[in-house]
Amino acid sequence: MNSVFTETELQQYYDLLDESLTPYDCGKLCSPSNGGEPFCCSVENAVPMLYREEFRYLQRRSDLWARWKPKTARDKKQKKEDESPILIFCECKGVAHCERPNRSVGCRTFPLEPFLDAEGNILGLIFMREFTNKCPLMGRLKDIKQSAIDKQYEFWKLMLAKKSDELDLYISTSKGWRISAAKRGVKLPLLIPTQLKKT
Ligand code: SF4
Ligand code: SF4
Repeated sequence: MNSVFTETELQQYYDLLDESLTPYDCGKLCSPSNGGEPFCCSVENAVPMLYREEFRYLQRRSDLWARWKPKTARDKKQKKEDESPILIFCECKGVAHCERPNRSVGCRTFPLEPFLDAEGNILGLIFMREFTNKCPLMGRLKDIKQSAIDKQYEFWKLMLAKKSDELDLYISTSKGWRISAAKRGVKLPLLIPTQLKKT
C-alpha cells in the first residue's frame, strides 16, 4: 500500500536529509565539466522526481518548483512511461535560484539510494546505478560522512514503510546490482549505516 505523506512527515524527512553528504561542496568537483553547474542540478542530466504530495507541499511554500515540461519526443515518452501514481517529474528554477530549505527529497539523497535484500530489509546505501560514472563521489566514497549515511538510512526506513511501490522498486534495483556485481566478480560499493555495522 502507498500511504500519502503528511506535511509533518515531509518536514521530518527534510530535517533528516538536511546534512550535506561531504564536508566540502561536492558541486565543485563536477561543475567545471558541466558548464559551471553541479551535474545533478541540470535538468538535462537528471530530471528530478517528486512525490506528488511533496510537490503540493513545496508549491505551498515557494515557487521554486514546477511540473517538468518535456520538449522532445523522447522526453515526452519518458514522462508518459515513468511518471506514476506516486511520483512526477518536476523542474526547479535552476541552481542560481536554489532555496536550500525547499530542496526535494531527491535533491537531498542524490546520488544514493537504499540497497535491500529480497525481503526488503535495508543492508546499506548504494549509488544510483545510472549515475555511477557521472557523479565524482563514486570515486570518493570515503568522503561521504557517516552521519549523513546514518540519517539517510533513518529516512529510507521511514519512507519505505509508507510506499510499497518504492519498496518494490528498490528490491528490484538492488537485485540488478547483485547480479551485475556477481557477473563482474566485484564487491558491491555499499555504504553501511552505523546501526548495521558488525561490532
Ligand atoms: S552529488 Fe555528485 S553530481 Fe551532484 S554535485 Fe555532488 S559531486 Fe556533483
Ligand atoms: S532545487 Fe537546488 S539542489 Fe535541487 S535540483 Fe534545483 S538547484 Fe539543485
